[in-house]
Amino acid sequence: MDFDLSTEQKLIQDSARSMMERDVQPILDKHDPNKSLPKAAMLEIFSHLKNMGLMAPRLSEKDGGSGMSMLNYGLIYEQLPPFLAIAVMGHECTIARIFAEATEEQKEMFLPDLFEGKKITGTATTEPGVGSNPREVTTRVVEDGNELVINGRKMWCSNASIADIINVTCADGSDDRGANLRRVVVETDNPNMEVTEIETMGLKMGHLSEIVFDDCRVPAVNTFGSAGDAARLLTITWNGNRPLCGLAATHLAQKALDKATVYAGERTQFGKAIGGHQLVQKLLADIETNVVTSRLLCYYALDALDKGDHTNGISAMAKRYATTACEQAVSMAMHVHGAMGIAEETGLDQLYRDVRMLPIPDATNEILTLIQGRELTGMAAFR
Ligand SMILES: Cc1cc2nc3c(=O)[nH]c(=O)nc-3n(C[C@H](O)[C@H](O)[C@H](O)COP(=O)(O)OP(=O)(O)OC[C@H]3O[C@@H](n4cnc5c(N)ncnc54)[C@H](O)[C@@H]3O)c2cc1C
Repeated sequence: MDFDLSTEQKLIQDSARSMMERDVQPILDKHDPNKSLPKAAMLEIFSHLKNMGLMAPRLSEKDGGSGMSMLNYGLIYEQLPPFLAIAVMGHECTIARIFAEATEEQKEMFLPDLFEGKKITGTATTEPGVGSNPREVTTRVVEDGNELVINGRKMWCSNASIADIINVTCADGSDDRGANLRRVVVETDNPNMEVTEIETMGLKMGHLSEIVFDDCRVPAVNTFGSAGDAARLLTITWNGNRPLCGLAATHLAQKALDKATVYAGERTQFGKAIGGHQLVQKLLADIETNVVTSRLLCYYALDALDKGDHTNGISAMAKRYATTACEQAVSMAMHVHGAMGIAEETGLDQLYRDVRMLPIPDATNEILTLIQGRELTGMAAFR
Protein backbone atom coordinates (compact mmCIF):
# COMPACT_ATOMS: atom_id res chain seq x y z
CA MET A 1 0.00 0.00 0.00
CA ASP A 2 1.39 3.39 -1.01
CA PHE A 3 -0.43 6.60 -0.12
CA ASP A 4 1.88 8.84 -2.16
CA LEU A 5 1.03 9.99 -5.64
CA SER A 6 3.59 8.83 -8.20
CA THR A 7 5.91 11.37 -9.85
CA GLU A 8 3.76 11.14 -12.98
CA GLN A 9 0.58 11.77 -10.98
CA LYS A 10 2.11 14.81 -9.27
CA LEU A 11 3.04 16.14 -12.71
CA ILE A 12 -0.51 15.55 -13.98
CA GLN A 13 -1.90 17.40 -10.97
CA ASP A 14 0.55 20.30 -11.39
CA SER A 15 -0.11 20.69 -15.10
CA ALA A 16 -3.87 20.68 -14.43
CA ARG A 17 -3.42 23.48 -11.86
CA SER A 18 -1.23 25.47 -14.26
CA MET A 19 -3.69 25.02 -17.11
CA MET A 20 -6.50 26.27 -14.89
CA GLU A 21 -4.56 29.37 -13.83
CA ARG A 22 -3.02 30.15 -17.21
CA ASP A 23 -5.76 29.21 -19.70
CA VAL A 24 -9.12 28.85 -17.97
CA GLN A 25 -9.22 31.43 -15.17
CA PRO A 26 -8.62 34.40 -17.53
CA ILE A 27 -11.67 33.31 -19.57
CA LEU A 28 -13.79 32.98 -16.42
CA ASP A 29 -12.62 36.39 -15.17
CA LYS A 30 -14.24 38.05 -18.19
CA HIS A 31 -17.69 36.79 -17.18
CA ASP A 32 -20.23 37.42 -14.42
CA PRO A 33 -19.75 34.66 -11.78
CA ASN A 34 -23.50 34.75 -11.10
CA LYS A 35 -24.61 34.08 -14.69
CA SER A 36 -24.37 30.99 -16.86
CA LEU A 37 -21.24 31.07 -19.00
CA PRO A 38 -21.89 31.83 -22.70
CA LYS A 39 -21.45 28.89 -25.04
CA ALA A 40 -18.54 30.56 -26.90
CA ALA A 41 -16.60 30.85 -23.63
CA MET A 42 -17.34 27.22 -22.73
CA LEU A 43 -16.10 26.08 -26.16
CA GLU A 44 -12.91 28.12 -25.65
CA ILE A 45 -12.40 26.40 -22.28
CA PHE A 46 -13.15 22.99 -23.82
CA SER A 47 -10.38 23.61 -26.39
CA HIS A 48 -7.92 23.79 -23.46
CA LEU A 49 -9.47 20.89 -21.54
CA LYS A 50 -9.23 18.77 -24.66
CA ASN A 51 -5.46 19.16 -24.52
CA MET A 52 -5.58 17.65 -21.02
CA GLY A 53 -7.53 14.67 -22.41
CA LEU A 54 -10.79 15.62 -20.68
CA MET A 55 -13.18 15.28 -23.62
CA ALA A 56 -13.13 11.47 -23.50
CA PRO A 57 -10.93 10.36 -20.60
CA ARG A 58 -12.76 7.04 -20.13
CA LEU A 59 -12.20 5.82 -23.68
CA SER A 60 -8.97 4.26 -24.87
CA GLU A 61 -6.74 6.07 -27.36
CA LYS A 62 -7.65 3.41 -29.93
CA ASP A 63 -11.30 4.42 -29.50
CA GLY A 64 -10.60 8.16 -29.81
CA GLY A 65 -10.27 8.95 -26.10
CA SER A 66 -7.28 9.77 -23.95
CA GLY A 67 -7.07 6.37 -22.24
CA MET A 68 -6.58 7.92 -18.82
CA SER A 69 -7.00 5.98 -15.61
CA MET A 70 -10.00 7.10 -13.56
CA LEU A 71 -7.67 8.04 -10.69
CA ASN A 72 -5.60 10.32 -12.95
CA TYR A 73 -8.81 11.79 -14.31
CA GLY A 74 -9.91 12.44 -10.71
CA LEU A 75 -6.60 14.20 -9.92
CA ILE A 76 -7.28 16.63 -12.78
CA TYR A 77 -11.00 16.84 -12.09
CA GLU A 78 -10.40 18.01 -8.53
CA GLN A 79 -8.63 21.11 -9.89
CA LEU A 80 -11.65 22.29 -11.91
CA PRO A 81 -14.15 24.77 -10.50
CA PRO A 82 -17.19 22.57 -9.77
CA PHE A 83 -19.57 24.24 -12.26
CA LEU A 84 -17.02 23.38 -14.96
CA ALA A 85 -16.41 19.93 -13.50
CA ILE A 86 -20.14 19.15 -13.79
CA ALA A 87 -20.17 20.43 -17.40
CA VAL A 88 -17.14 18.30 -18.31
CA MET A 89 -18.66 15.22 -16.68
CA GLY A 90 -21.98 15.79 -18.49
CA HIS A 91 -20.11 16.02 -21.79
CA GLU A 92 -17.55 13.24 -21.46
CA CYS A 93 -19.82 10.72 -19.77
CA THR A 94 -22.41 11.23 -22.51
CA ILE A 95 -19.67 10.50 -25.05
CA ALA A 96 -18.85 7.31 -23.14
CA ARG A 97 -22.53 6.34 -23.09
CA ILE A 98 -23.02 6.98 -26.81
CA PHE A 99 -19.80 5.10 -27.59
CA ALA A 100 -20.90 2.10 -25.54
CA GLU A 101 -24.10 1.63 -27.55
CA ALA A 102 -23.51 3.15 -30.98
CA THR A 103 -22.74 1.34 -34.22
CA GLU A 104 -19.61 2.35 -36.15
CA GLU A 105 -21.79 4.46 -38.45
CA GLN A 106 -23.41 6.25 -35.49
CA LYS A 107 -20.02 6.87 -33.84
CA GLU A 108 -18.82 8.52 -37.05
CA MET A 109 -22.00 10.62 -37.20
CA PHE A 110 -22.02 11.92 -33.64
CA LEU A 111 -18.66 11.64 -31.93
CA PRO A 112 -15.77 13.32 -33.85
CA ASP A 113 -16.72 16.94 -33.00
CA LEU A 114 -17.52 15.95 -29.41
CA PHE A 115 -14.06 14.35 -29.03
CA GLU A 116 -12.54 17.58 -30.33
CA GLY A 117 -14.58 19.76 -27.96
CA LYS A 118 -15.98 21.63 -30.97
CA LYS A 119 -19.48 20.55 -29.99
CA ILE A 120 -21.03 20.03 -26.57
CA THR A 121 -23.33 17.28 -25.36
CA GLY A 122 -25.22 16.11 -22.28
CA THR A 123 -27.67 13.45 -21.10
CA ALA A 124 -31.37 14.09 -20.40
CA THR A 125 -32.98 11.48 -18.15
CA THR A 126 -34.63 13.27 -15.20
CA GLU A 127 -38.20 14.51 -15.66
CA PRO A 128 -40.57 16.65 -13.57
CA GLY A 129 -42.12 13.45 -12.15
CA VAL A 130 -39.11 11.11 -12.48
CA GLY A 131 -35.88 11.51 -10.54
CA SER A 132 -34.38 8.85 -8.31
CA ASN A 133 -35.97 6.02 -10.27
CA PRO A 134 -35.03 6.55 -13.92
CA ARG A 135 -36.85 3.35 -14.89
CA GLU A 136 -40.06 5.35 -14.60
CA VAL A 137 -39.14 7.65 -17.51
CA THR A 138 -42.26 8.74 -19.40
CA THR A 139 -40.81 10.75 -22.30
CA ARG A 140 -42.12 8.71 -25.17
CA VAL A 141 -40.47 7.81 -28.46
CA VAL A 142 -42.44 6.19 -31.26
CA GLU A 143 -41.31 5.09 -34.70
CA ASP A 144 -42.90 6.71 -37.73
CA GLY A 145 -41.40 5.42 -40.97
CA ASN A 146 -37.78 6.55 -41.15
CA GLU A 147 -38.24 8.88 -38.21
CA LEU A 148 -38.65 8.79 -34.45
CA VAL A 149 -41.09 11.13 -32.75
CA ILE A 150 -40.39 12.27 -29.18
CA ASN A 151 -42.88 13.80 -26.74
CA GLY A 152 -42.18 14.66 -23.12
CA ARG A 153 -40.41 16.95 -20.69
CA LYS A 154 -36.96 16.66 -19.10
CA MET A 155 -35.53 18.54 -16.08
CA TRP A 156 -32.15 19.41 -14.62
CA CYS A 157 -30.16 18.52 -17.71
CA SER A 158 -26.51 19.61 -17.49
CA ASN A 159 -25.24 21.49 -20.55
CA ALA A 160 -28.56 21.36 -22.42
CA SER A 161 -28.72 25.11 -23.13
CA ILE A 162 -25.21 25.12 -24.64
CA ALA A 163 -25.28 21.64 -26.17
CA ASP A 164 -25.33 20.77 -29.86
CA ILE A 165 -26.71 17.30 -29.28
CA ILE A 166 -28.47 15.70 -26.32
CA ASN A 167 -28.68 12.01 -25.48
CA VAL A 168 -32.29 11.65 -24.36
CA THR A 169 -33.54 8.71 -22.30
CA CYS A 170 -36.97 7.74 -23.66
CA ALA A 171 -39.48 4.94 -23.15
CA ASP A 172 -40.75 3.21 -26.26
CA GLY A 173 -43.67 1.56 -24.47
CA SER A 174 -42.72 -1.92 -25.62
CA ASP A 175 -42.92 -3.31 -22.08
CA ASP A 176 -43.60 -1.98 -18.60
CA ARG A 177 -40.55 -3.27 -16.73
CA GLY A 178 -38.08 -0.55 -17.62
CA ALA A 179 -36.27 -2.59 -20.25
CA ASN A 180 -37.99 -0.44 -22.83
CA LEU A 181 -35.71 2.52 -22.22
CA ARG A 182 -33.98 3.81 -25.35
CA ARG A 183 -31.43 6.49 -25.84
CA VAL A 184 -32.17 8.93 -28.68
CA VAL A 185 -29.76 11.61 -29.89
CA VAL A 186 -31.46 14.92 -30.64
CA GLU A 187 -29.78 17.88 -32.32
CA THR A 188 -30.63 21.01 -30.34
CA ASP A 189 -31.49 23.08 -33.42
CA ASN A 190 -34.60 20.91 -33.77
CA PRO A 191 -37.56 23.34 -33.96
CA ASN A 192 -39.79 21.03 -31.88
CA MET A 193 -37.55 21.06 -28.85
CA GLU A 194 -37.41 23.96 -26.39
CA VAL A 195 -34.64 24.41 -23.80
CA THR A 196 -35.05 26.76 -20.83
CA GLU A 197 -32.34 27.33 -18.23
CA ILE A 198 -33.30 26.86 -14.57
CA GLU A 199 -31.98 29.40 -12.03
CA THR A 200 -30.28 27.66 -9.12
CA MET A 201 -28.69 28.72 -5.82
CA GLY A 202 -25.21 27.52 -6.73
CA LEU A 203 -22.87 26.53 -9.58
CA LYS A 204 -24.23 29.67 -11.23
CA MET A 205 -21.83 29.72 -14.18
CA GLY A 206 -23.14 26.28 -15.13
CA HIS A 207 -26.18 25.25 -17.14
CA LEU A 208 -29.10 23.22 -15.82
CA SER A 209 -32.14 23.20 -18.07
CA GLU A 210 -35.64 22.00 -18.68
CA ILE A 211 -36.34 20.58 -22.15
CA VAL A 212 -39.74 20.16 -23.77
CA PHE A 213 -40.13 17.80 -26.74
CA ASP A 214 -43.32 18.44 -28.70
CA ASP A 215 -43.65 16.02 -31.63
CA CYS A 216 -39.90 16.31 -32.02
CA ARG A 217 -38.81 14.30 -35.08
CA VAL A 218 -35.34 12.84 -35.55
CA PRO A 219 -33.98 10.33 -38.09
CA ALA A 220 -34.47 6.67 -37.07
CA VAL A 221 -30.69 6.20 -37.10
CA ASN A 222 -30.43 8.45 -33.99
CA THR A 223 -31.38 5.72 -31.51
CA PHE A 224 -29.18 3.16 -29.75
CA GLY A 225 -29.68 -0.36 -28.38
CA SER A 226 -33.35 -0.98 -27.74
CA ALA A 227 -32.81 -2.54 -24.31
CA GLY A 228 -29.25 -1.40 -23.72
CA ASP A 229 -26.59 -3.01 -21.62
CA ALA A 230 -27.49 -1.34 -18.34
CA ALA A 231 -24.76 -2.99 -16.24
CA ARG A 232 -21.96 -1.95 -18.58
CA LEU A 233 -23.29 1.61 -18.84
CA LEU A 234 -23.58 1.75 -15.05
CA THR A 235 -19.96 0.72 -14.63
CA ILE A 236 -18.52 3.20 -17.10
CA THR A 237 -20.62 6.14 -15.99
CA TRP A 238 -22.36 6.26 -12.59
CA ASN A 239 -19.69 4.43 -10.61
CA GLY A 240 -17.09 6.80 -12.02
CA ASN A 241 -19.25 9.92 -11.77
CA ARG A 242 -19.94 9.53 -8.06
CA PRO A 243 -16.38 9.80 -6.68
CA LEU A 244 -15.69 12.53 -9.25
CA CYS A 245 -18.61 14.47 -7.83
CA GLY A 246 -17.13 13.89 -4.36
CA LEU A 247 -13.87 15.43 -5.58
CA ALA A 248 -15.75 18.50 -6.84
CA ALA A 249 -17.03 18.88 -3.27
CA THR A 250 -13.49 18.36 -1.97
CA HIS A 251 -12.26 21.19 -4.22
CA LEU A 252 -14.72 23.55 -2.53
CA ALA A 253 -13.97 22.34 1.00
CA GLN A 254 -10.21 22.70 0.45
CA LYS A 255 -10.78 26.33 -0.57
CA ALA A 256 -12.86 26.88 2.54
CA LEU A 257 -10.12 25.31 4.72
CA ASP A 258 -7.47 27.57 3.14
CA LYS A 259 -9.56 30.66 3.80
CA ALA A 260 -10.33 29.64 7.40
CA THR A 261 -6.68 28.89 8.17
CA VAL A 262 -5.54 32.31 6.90
CA TYR A 263 -8.34 34.10 8.74
CA ALA A 264 -7.60 32.27 12.01
CA GLY A 265 -4.04 33.55 11.80
CA GLU A 266 -5.07 37.17 11.14
CA ARG A 267 -8.14 37.81 13.24
CA THR A 268 -7.44 38.64 16.87
CA GLN A 269 -9.83 38.35 19.81
CA PHE A 270 -9.08 38.33 23.56
CA GLY A 271 -5.61 39.66 22.74
CA LYS A 272 -4.41 36.93 20.36
CA ALA A 273 -5.05 35.40 16.95
CA ILE A 274 -8.25 33.32 17.10
CA GLY A 275 -6.22 30.40 15.69
CA GLY A 276 -4.51 30.29 19.08
CA HIS A 277 -7.80 29.51 20.85
CA GLN A 278 -8.29 25.79 21.37
CA LEU A 279 -11.86 25.59 20.08
CA VAL A 280 -10.97 27.38 16.85
CA GLN A 281 -8.16 24.87 16.38
CA LYS A 282 -10.73 22.11 16.82
CA LEU A 283 -12.86 23.63 14.06
CA LEU A 284 -9.82 23.80 11.76
CA ALA A 285 -8.81 20.23 12.62
CA ASP A 286 -12.35 18.99 11.92
CA ILE A 287 -12.46 20.80 8.56
CA GLU A 288 -9.11 19.33 7.52
CA THR A 289 -10.20 15.85 8.59
CA ASN A 290 -13.32 16.14 6.44
CA VAL A 291 -11.29 17.36 3.44
CA VAL A 292 -8.60 14.69 3.68
CA THR A 293 -10.95 11.76 4.32
CA SER A 294 -13.21 12.87 1.45
CA ARG A 295 -10.29 13.09 -0.94
CA LEU A 296 -8.84 9.71 0.08
CA LEU A 297 -12.16 7.89 -0.15
CA CYS A 298 -12.82 9.30 -3.63
CA TYR A 299 -9.30 8.38 -4.82
CA TYR A 300 -9.79 4.92 -3.33
CA ALA A 301 -13.06 4.43 -5.24
CA LEU A 302 -11.51 5.61 -8.52
CA ASP A 303 -8.49 3.34 -8.00
CA ALA A 304 -10.83 0.40 -7.34
CA LEU A 305 -12.60 1.19 -10.61
CA ASP A 306 -9.24 1.20 -12.43
CA LYS A 307 -8.45 -2.21 -10.94
CA GLY A 308 -11.70 -3.58 -12.35
CA ASP A 309 -13.22 -4.18 -8.91
CA HIS A 310 -16.95 -4.21 -8.29
CA THR A 311 -17.39 -0.58 -7.13
CA ASN A 312 -21.14 -0.03 -6.69
CA GLY A 313 -20.78 0.21 -2.89
CA ILE A 314 -17.49 2.11 -2.62
CA SER A 315 -18.46 4.64 -5.31
CA ALA A 316 -21.77 5.31 -3.58
CA MET A 317 -19.98 5.55 -0.21
CA ALA A 318 -17.37 7.99 -1.58
CA LYS A 319 -19.90 10.41 -3.03
CA ARG A 320 -22.25 10.35 -0.05
CA TYR A 321 -19.43 10.75 2.45
CA ALA A 322 -17.56 13.46 0.53
CA THR A 323 -20.58 15.61 -0.33
CA THR A 324 -21.81 15.47 3.28
CA ALA A 325 -18.39 16.00 4.92
CA CYS A 326 -17.48 18.82 2.53
CA GLU A 327 -20.79 20.61 3.05
CA GLN A 328 -20.06 20.47 6.81
CA ALA A 329 -16.47 21.61 6.19
CA VAL A 330 -17.57 24.70 4.28
CA SER A 331 -20.11 25.51 6.99
CA MET A 332 -17.45 25.16 9.71
CA ALA A 333 -15.06 27.40 7.73
CA MET A 334 -17.79 30.04 7.63
CA HIS A 335 -18.10 29.69 11.38
CA VAL A 336 -14.36 30.31 11.89
CA HIS A 337 -15.01 33.68 10.19
CA GLY A 338 -17.78 34.69 12.62
CA ALA A 339 -20.09 37.20 10.91
CA MET A 340 -17.56 37.66 8.12
CA GLY A 341 -18.41 34.09 7.10
CA ILE A 342 -21.77 35.22 5.79
CA ALA A 343 -20.43 38.37 4.11
CA GLU A 344 -20.27 38.04 0.34
CA GLU A 345 -16.77 39.55 0.24
CA THR A 346 -15.16 36.45 1.77
CA GLY A 347 -16.53 34.27 -1.08
CA LEU A 348 -17.54 31.58 1.41
CA ASP A 349 -21.20 32.03 0.58
CA GLN A 350 -20.49 30.92 -2.97
CA LEU A 351 -18.62 27.82 -1.77
CA TYR A 352 -21.59 27.06 0.51
CA ARG A 353 -24.15 27.49 -2.27
CA ASP A 354 -22.06 25.42 -4.68
CA VAL A 355 -21.37 22.53 -2.31
CA ARG A 356 -25.08 22.27 -1.50
CA MET A 357 -25.77 21.33 -5.13
CA LEU A 358 -23.54 18.26 -5.15
CA PRO A 359 -25.41 15.66 -3.02
CA ILE A 360 -28.10 15.53 -5.75
CA PRO A 361 -26.73 14.57 -9.21
CA ASP A 362 -26.00 10.94 -10.10
CA ALA A 363 -28.14 9.74 -7.18
CA THR A 364 -29.07 11.51 -3.98
CA ASN A 365 -27.48 10.54 -0.68
CA GLU A 366 -30.51 8.44 0.28
CA ILE A 367 -30.26 6.42 -2.92
CA LEU A 368 -26.50 6.04 -2.41
CA THR A 369 -27.13 4.78 1.12
CA LEU A 370 -29.52 2.19 -0.26
CA ILE A 371 -27.00 1.11 -2.90
CA GLN A 372 -24.38 0.60 -0.20
CA GLY A 373 -26.92 -1.22 1.96
CA ARG A 374 -27.82 -3.49 -0.93
CA GLU A 375 -24.15 -4.33 -1.43
CA LEU A 376 -23.80 -5.22 2.26
CA THR A 377 -26.96 -7.26 2.65
CA GLY A 378 -27.78 -8.50 -0.83
CA MET A 379 -31.26 -7.05 -0.30
CA ALA A 380 -32.69 -4.11 -2.27
CA ALA A 381 -34.61 -1.65 -0.08
CA PHE A 382 -35.58 0.59 -3.00
CA ARG A 383 -38.92 -1.04 -3.59
C1 LIG B 1 -26.00 19.80 -10.44
C2 LIG B 1 -26.98 18.80 -11.01
C3 LIG B 1 -26.73 18.23 -12.25
C4 LIG B 1 -27.66 17.35 -12.80
N1 LIG B 1 -27.43 16.87 -14.08
C5 LIG B 1 -28.34 16.06 -14.65
C6 LIG B 1 -28.18 15.65 -16.01
O1 LIG B 1 -27.22 16.00 -16.68
N2 LIG B 1 -29.14 14.85 -16.57
C7 LIG B 1 -30.23 14.43 -15.86
O2 LIG B 1 -31.04 13.72 -16.41
N3 LIG B 1 -30.43 14.83 -14.56
C8 LIG B 1 -29.51 15.63 -13.95
N4 LIG B 1 -29.69 16.05 -12.66
C9 LIG B 1 -30.89 15.62 -11.93
C10 LIG B 1 -30.57 14.59 -10.84
O3 LIG B 1 -30.10 13.40 -11.42
C11 LIG B 1 -31.88 14.37 -10.04
O4 LIG B 1 -32.23 15.60 -9.45
C12 LIG B 1 -31.69 13.28 -8.99
O5 LIG B 1 -31.61 12.01 -9.60
C13 LIG B 1 -32.82 13.28 -7.96
O6 LIG B 1 -34.06 13.32 -8.57
P1 LIG B 1 -35.17 14.36 -8.05
O7 LIG B 1 -34.53 15.70 -7.97
O8 LIG B 1 -36.36 14.23 -8.91
O9 LIG B 1 -35.49 13.92 -6.58
P2 LIG B 1 -36.56 12.80 -6.12
O10 LIG B 1 -36.23 11.49 -6.77
O11 LIG B 1 -37.93 13.33 -6.27
O12 LIG B 1 -36.22 12.68 -4.58
C14 LIG B 1 -36.70 13.62 -3.61
C15 LIG B 1 -36.21 13.18 -2.24
O13 LIG B 1 -36.71 11.88 -1.94
C16 LIG B 1 -35.64 11.00 -1.64
N5 LIG B 1 -35.95 9.65 -2.11
C17 LIG B 1 -36.39 9.26 -3.33
N6 LIG B 1 -36.56 7.93 -3.38
C18 LIG B 1 -36.21 7.46 -2.16
C19 LIG B 1 -36.14 6.15 -1.59
N7 LIG B 1 -36.45 5.04 -2.28
N8 LIG B 1 -35.75 6.05 -0.31
C20 LIG B 1 -35.38 7.15 0.42
N9 LIG B 1 -35.42 8.40 -0.08
C21 LIG B 1 -35.82 8.55 -1.35
C22 LIG B 1 -34.44 11.59 -2.36
O14 LIG B 1 -33.21 11.16 -1.79
C23 LIG B 1 -34.68 13.07 -2.18
O15 LIG B 1 -34.23 13.48 -0.92
C24 LIG B 1 -28.82 16.97 -12.08
C25 LIG B 1 -29.05 17.53 -10.82
C26 LIG B 1 -28.16 18.44 -10.29
C27 LIG B 1 -28.45 19.06 -8.95
